[in-house]
Amino acid sequence: MLKVKDVTKYYGSHLAVDHLSFEVNQGEIFGLLGANGAGKTTTFRMIMGLLEPNQGNITFDEKPIDYTMTDKIGFVTEERSLLTKLTVKEQIIYYGILKGMVEEDILEKLDIWLEKFHISEYKNRKIKELSKGNQQKIQFISGVIHSPQLLILDEPFSGLDPINVKMFQEVILDLKSKGCSIIFSSHQMEHIELFCEKLVILVKGKVVLSGYLKDIKKEYRKKNILIEGDVSVSELKKIKGVLDVTLLNQEYQVKIESDAIVEKVFQAISKSRITKFVVEEASLNEIFIEKVGEAYDE
Ligand code: ATP
Repeated sequence: MLKVKDVTKYYGSHLAVDHLSFEVNQGEIFGLLGANGAGKTTTFRMIMGLLEPNQGNITFDEKPIDYTMTDKIGFVTEERSLLTKLTVKEQIIYYGILKGMVEEDILEKLDIWLEKFHISEYKNRKIKELSKGNQQKIQFISGVIHSPQLLILDEPFSGLDPINVKMFQEVILDLKSKGCSIIFSSHQMEHIELFCEKLVILVKGKVVLSGYLKDIKKEYRKKNILIEGDVSVSELKKIKGVLDVTLLNQEYQVKIESDAIVEKVFQAISKSRITKFVVEEASLNEIFIEKVGEAYDE
């Protein structure tokens, strides 16, 4: 289990991470969120033992992270760190050996991974000849070839088409089901919502929201009502507790302050022709925008 305890990191006098604490249990997917410059990459580097915190500590299975531990950790970034003149096979052998594996084991695992990603035919092709999406698959394989117990995914889906996103999602969920703990960073909240049971949101290195996604959503009182039919936007906007009304794809999205407003909205449109009336929780995207916005306003 990974424990990040009261970690602070300065670059010179610049405070990049400010008293950050969280835990990731075995088989859990954890979301580390934040706007650009929030401190995510700095946190990942500290977890991997590439940067020392100025304060606090990070342990994995109760032991401080050092060079011997990093073999248990896998890392996939959005920056392409592949040696593009090598073939896929050469590249993965290189990474596998760095992680202390023997070649026979690497090749056995590589075949399984290539098959999983439907790219077995590229095994002996140079990386520079592969499409971006396929290069990203190789990058992913290089991060998991040693079967890490903790996998760090920094924007793993950036630049992928929807079919490849789905393929990556299946692979990540499969790793989770085998007990791998995963820390996941993405600017796309729908990806976080799909995967992460637990998360923190950082603003300028400080936690502004943390906890289990289902609790965060429950505690966040604002909701949306989705309505299809003949409704008067101006009448809806007059209702106290209605925060906003927008029309998207012939569907009105009515943002309300809390559950108590649902009935008022329902009554207001009860005489209209309505084909849909659904109350849903706010999306993580809405929560993120509000929390990060509030923190910047302070
Ligand atoms: P992004 O989403 O844009 O990748 P991030 O959340 O990963 O951002 P970090 O890269 O961790 O953010 O940066 C946190 C803060 O520390 C930023 O203000 C950044 O400018 C600063 N910073 C990062 N690396 C260094 C460095 N090597 N020297 C000085 N300041 C740095």
